[in-house]
Amino acid sequence: MAAQDQALQTKYYVAKILNTETDSKCRLCQQFDETTGRIISACPILAKEQYIKRYDRVCAQLHCNICKETGVQLDKTHWYEHVPKSVETSQGGKVTILWNQQIQTDRTNPNNKPDIIICDNEKGTCMLIHVAISGDRNVIKKEAEEILKYKDVTIEIQRMWNVKTKAIPVIVGATGTISKSFRRYVSNIRGNHEFKELQKTAILGTAHILRKVLM
Ligand SMILES: [Zn+2]
Repeated sequence: MAAQDQALQTKYYVAKILNTETDSKCRLCQQFDETTGRIISACPILAKEQYIKRYDRVCAQLHCNICKETGVQLDKTHWYEHVPKSVETSQGGKVTILWNQQIQTDRTNPNNKPDIIICDNEKGTCMLIHVAISGDRNVIKKEAEEILKYKDVTIEIQRMWNVKTKAIPVIVGATGTISKSFRRYVSNIRGNHEFKELQKTAILGTAHILRKVLM
């Protein structure tokens, strides 16, 4: 909550709110004013590893839920121990779940690598899921961007594989903000996805980053 209220002792806070004569730039990258919002979603140094770890956890959680629902046999039952494999197939081979796989398209497309792809071979459907943890203020903008980004590849897959294809964005703010459409998007994805649990995973990741930087 302190992070949501921007009430943490960042360098910007110390310099501008407490009004002391210190420098307000980020202690890691020295590029921006060190505000809570910037630390949790916009620091290029943290982007290299810390943001990826947080995002990977949310992806793994979704992936685990999908596997359980579609009847993929898992080594670990808890999502937090789950390490997704590149390709998973449900028992009986009805559903294939791809993880972090590039799709070969005829036209060059930079956005051809969704986080998770669910192919239902029986129903002839394909779902592309792309996950992002964004700044809380940018959740709606990010969602719109992601939808646009995956439009071409959705059409391309539909044409190449002859399956009904849908792209689903899963965008969670760093301190848990979700859009009004979030429920609708996530409820389209197979599996028992608790919104609260997805938010919690993002928030725990953010809390971890903040502790690491500020303490
Ligand atoms: Zn920085």
